[in-house]
Amino acid sequence: MALVAIVDDRVTNRNIFSKLAASIAADIEVRAFGAPRDALAWLQQNQADLVITDYKMPEMDGADFVGALRAIPGAADIPVVVITVYEERSYRLRALEAGATDFLNSPVDHHEFVTRTRNLLALRRHQKLLAERAETLAEELANSERSRERAIRDSIERLAQVIDTLPVLINAVDREGRTLFVNEFETDFFGVDPAAVVGKPLAELTGPTNADRNRALDQLVFTTGKALPAFEEDLVSAAGRRRSFLTTKTPLRDHAGAVSGVLTSSLDITAHKRTEEHLRYLAHHDPLTSLPNRTLLSEKLRAAIARARRGDKVFALHLIDLDGFKSVNDVHGHSIGDRFLKSVGGRLAQVIREADTLARLGGDEFAILQSEVASNYDVAEFAARIADCVASFVDPALQHLKATASIGVAIHPNDGADAEELLRNADLAMYKAKGEGGNAYCMFAADMQARARSTLDLESSLREALANEQFVLHYQPQFSAVTKEIVGVEALLRWNRPDAGLVGPGVFLPHAEESGLIIPINEWVLNRACADAYAWQRLGLPAFRVAINMSPIQFRKKNVPLQVARVLSETGLESRRLELELTENIVMQDVEAVAKDLRELNRLGVSVAIDDFGTGYSSLSYIKRLPVQRIKIDQSFVRNMTQDPNDAAIVRAIVTLGRSLALDVVAEGVETQQQLQCLREAGCDYAQGFLLGRPMPADDIVALFGKQPSLAMSA
Ligand code: C2E
Ligand code: MG
Ligand code: MG
Repeated sequence: MALVAIVDDRVTNRNIFSKLAASIAADIEVRAFGAPRDALAWLQQNQADLVITDYKMPEMDGADFVGALRAIPGAADIPVVVITVYEERSYRLRALEAGATDFLNSPVDHHEFVTRTRNLLALRRHQKLLAERAETLAEELANSERSRERAIRDSIERLAQVIDTLPVLINAVDREGRTLFVNEFETDFFGVDPAAVVGKPLAELTGPTNADRNRALDQLVFTTGKALPAFEEDLVSAAGRRRSFLTTKTPLRDHAGAVSGVLTSSLDITAHKRTEEHLRYLAHHDPLTSLPNRTLLSEKLRAAIARARRGDKVFALHLIDLDGFKSVNDVHGHSIGDRFLKSVGGRLAQVIREADTLARLGGDEFAILQSEVASNYDVAEFAARIADCVASFVDPALQHLKATASIGVAIHPNDGADAEELLRNADLAMYKAKGEGGNAYCMFAADMQARARSTLDLESSLREALANEQFVLHYQPQFSAVTKEIVGVEALLRWNRPDAGLVGPGVFLPHAEESGLIIPINEWVLNRACADAYAWQRLGLPAFRVAINMSPIQFRKKNVPLQVARVLSETGLESRRLELELTENIVMQDVEAVAKDLRELNRLGVSVAIDDFGTGYSSLSYIKRLPVQRIKIDQSFVRNMTQDPNDAAIVRAIVTLGRSLALDVVAEGVETQQQLQCLREAGCDYAQGFLLGRPMPADDIVALFGKQPSLAMSA
């Protein structure tokens, strides 16, 4: 709807113009005024879309009216048509200056009036629409501006919140090292007030030590203009908590692109590191003892080798193997075994120095990396100390358990260039120590390797022999030189080696001794011999003795009386049918301890003979102190006694000694009738040798008893 105001002092004109205006469109409202002042008053209150005014009016002319109208607020752009009869330009100029929009000549052409007014009204409509649109646009603009600002403010606030609460220390410094900004996580961490550190030197924030290092790194970023690669660092909080961080430093640039600051962000990776460390710990430690494991030992060895290359002192590797530990597990069970291993580990840990490494390699095997040794003497002394430490150790909770250790030692660089070689050679030396009876240490020697190789082959064959029952016992009879009856047999070991036939003990026993295999082998011999003897006992054969050769290691490592008692009760053999043969060397190892064992054996009813008598210690007096029943003259004296008066004298002396101590004397290796004759003359009561009977299978012994009268003895 449009509102048209008409101002004319003549009523006829007012009517005509009103009608014409109303005819333009249906929704046009027309107000006509005879006096310009009335029109102005109305226009103060109402907004017209078009004003049509006469120029020549009594109160005020058209120019003054337009001028007054334009002064009304909001009326500045209402189109105003001035009707004038005056052709003069001066009138029109005045009206234009006052703000008239258009002119119509009087008398008015109706068609022109309608056309002009319609156009002006259309213009006015557009004008209003535009104004309206502009207004809403402005409003919309204002609205969107406000919301954008809010969004930015919100996001900055939120970002600041995130930055403050992230588990990341964030700060920035300027070229002078002053703090530009710092997040809350960092101020909390260092226990400072943000207001007190911003704008101040970095040291105020991080403390002087951290600040110095940071300054140097920040300078690097300033000079290179590049970010530093991330690095790990440990920082201590105000509360004294050490945390691990992954730190990055990146340049901050101003609008011109110049580096104006350095942003440091440190991500807290403590938890991650802990997991990593825990996994590393698990991979490098033995779960039972918590000691370093083989992997870690190898690493330490490699590091020690690298240090040695740089001129550090030499170092030694001690390989420690508990002797006979398997039986602890067998007898007491694994949980006791484990507890004992754990406490032995704890004891060993007390022997080492801080720079040394004690590791458990598995089972009952430990190793010590002894660092910075000055001399071989140092190493040997340390090895001896380890052996003593194990041997003297008593676990208060497991007082019944005792252990000794065999220790093999390899010294870098002489005994091995790398970790593997050192371990291998220490292992060889350890086996040597074990072979010598254990509870000892052995230093690696270069020729061990060559010997070890062939020994190793033989050793594994021996193990197989034991497992596959390739050992057999032959028995050699011993006769009474007087009554000619069989008084005993000696069990002699043979190895029925595949593709090699029967192998004598001289070939393989030294290796069995060296490797420690002699222990299970001898155990087998004891069992076998007692079983055979029991079979003879059951057959009702006379009560002759079965003599078994003992090895030195047995007495050092085993409770022989206990073992013998067990086998006797297991087999059911009468104890008087069993005899043990010991060499002088066995006895001399530890006279007191062996004598005690022998007394024990005697109490059981088992007799003892000294084998190869005369070849060992020449002092015969120690025999007096020993609970033995028999001595066996070594075959070397018997062999030569018919030619060599000295040997004959020795044989006679031994027989006399035996008599004086009430001991039986047996001559070994009797091969000829002359020898037998000589022995009889010397007063020797018993004889053993090829002349009388060769070592033979158990079954042949039975047959022997059937044929006894026809034996060579009677010849
Ligand atoms: P030994 O205890 O002095 O045994 C006697 C050795 O002399 C045996 O040799 C036997 O076959 C041999 N011999 C017997 N009569 C004569 C003879 O008239 N002339 C000659 N030349 N030799 C004779 P073998 O069986 O070779 O045993 C050698 C050594 O091996 C034994 O010496 C003994 O020390 C050891 N041995 C044998 N069996 C075992 C065993 O089961 N355990 C242990 N620990 N050692 C054993
Ligand atoms: Mg013997
Ligand atoms: Mg002998």
